[in-house]
Amino acid sequence: MDEELGLQPIINASGAVTRLGGAPMPPAVLEAFNAAAGESVPLEQLQAAASRQIAAITGAEAGLITAGAAAALTLGTAAILTGYDLRRMETLPHVDGAFPDQFVVAREQRNGYDHAVRAAGARLVEVGFHELSAGSGVRRVEEWEYEAAFGARTAGVLYVFAPDARPELAALVAKCHARGLPVLVDAAGELPPRDNLRAILASGADLVAFSGGKAIRGPQATGILCGRRDLIAAAALQMFDMDDHFELWNPPADFIDKSKLPGMPRHGIGRGYKVSKEQIAALLAALRLFAAGDYDAELSALRRRLQQIAMRLTGCAAAIEIIESTDGESLPLLEIDVDAETLGRSALEICRRLRAGSPPCYVGHAKLHAGTLVINPLHLDDGKAAALADRLREELSKSVGA
Ligand SMILES: *Cc1c(COP(=O)(O)O)cnc(C)c1O
Repeated sequence: MDEELGLQPIINASGAVTRLGGAPMPPAVLEAFNAAAGESVPLEQLQAAASRQIAAITGAEAGLITAGAAAALTLGTAAILTGYDLRRMETLPHVDGAFPDQFVVAREQRNGYDHAVRAAGARLVEVGFHELSAGSGVRRVEEWEYEAAFGARTAGVLYVFAPDARPELAALVAKCHARGLPVLVDAAGELPPRDNLRAILASGADLVAFSGGKAIRGPQATGILCGRRDLIAAAALQMFDMDDHFELWNPPADFIDKSKLPGMPRHGIGRGYKVSKEQIAALLAALRLFAAGDYDAELSALRRRLQQIAMRLTGCAAAIEIIESTDGESLPLLEIDVDAETLGRSALEICRRLRAGSPPCYVGHAKLHAGTLVINPLHLDDGKAAALADRLREELSKSVGA
């Protein structure tokens, strides 16, 4: 990190999270980034080439590299709202009843990222309840609840993918398609398993969004939108710099069907989500590595680092366990159940002290409510793992002052 900034790099034991800068880019990805920086190429041609590679890897008709999965959700929503209609593109995000704008979503799938869908101008219509988490029922959201909500203003369905999401995607897609409605899937964090690159689309979903800066290990601010060719074209039209003459503009026909356009769209709602040629080249390099299973070779070294940290914590006031993934591709994690009573400090307090210490250490915080610290090894080399283990040992030993 540039010394002029006066910042102390942290030890990231949280994995590929956005607020800590995402995933570490492998050398081949950085090389692709640098190589692209030295050349210019029309972006619609580069994105069309990317589309062909994404199609080959995912089985989609087409794909677009976006400024993250959230940007992919905004662009995918815009594409569903407008299709190739230039007038509709021009009016977004204000639909004002001029065309269908509602996306039906399960209440149990609502989350902060659905702001990206609303940002395009869509209105979310919730179905189902939270009965399981409310302790007041036994059922999840059901297909009939979606169908009952479909009406003249329905534009599509938003589905947030998870292995245990309900209703099952393929069944819901069939119901939606019977009504002529497209399904947009948020699968941002659903890699690995790498099978999901194909399996989620194979359910028939119209558009799927993946993060590029999580497990794929591309640039942090990249994502992938893939699916139907006409919708990918509509998304691209609303993201690209459109400052050209229609007579001269020549997008590859397998990517954007110019014959469907009466003229050149103006800059669209996605113009602020532009992606650089370097990001595109780097994400494609990362996608190839990820899809080929290259990252699996690192799993044993990452596991060994967690074991070293666990050894160093023997005798501390905490129960330590290495959690292996069930898919054989996800990273193993180290869970530290803090004995708050013995230590006189909660897991939250230890998390705070680790961040404030030197070097600052950021551990996984998803299970703090249960008193558990989680160590993700993605960013740890031997030196960082040893430094982290020392700091954990200090904070998990009774003698440290409060
Ligand atoms: C991470 C995530 C996003 C956002 O992805 P970015 O690539 O950071 O834009 C959206 N939805 C879900 C469920 C996520 O986990």
